[in-house]
Amino acid sequence: MQCAVCRKAPAELKEYVEATADYNEGKAIPISADQYVRLEEGTFNPDNELFACTLCYIKIGMPAKPFPDRWQPIDFIELAS
Ligand SMILES: [Zn+2]
Repeated sequence: MQCAVCRKAPAELKEYVEATADYNEGKAIPISADQYVRLEEGTFNPDNELFACTLCYIKIGMPAKPFPDRWQPIDFIELAS
């Protein structure tokens, strides 16, 4: 599982590490950052295990579709430098 743009895993991204720690607070069975993204990240695509982290999502122009057809990464996105 990785971000479709920066290709980092959830455990390498501060926002998911922090969100997972918050989520796990007071829970008997803690989840991993990967599991957190699977449960809570709206851009996660289970077909290819890709998501877009918040910074990258902003960089690519915050693609949006009306609920429930949320935008999800279909493949790796090459950022224009
Ligand atoms: Zn990213």
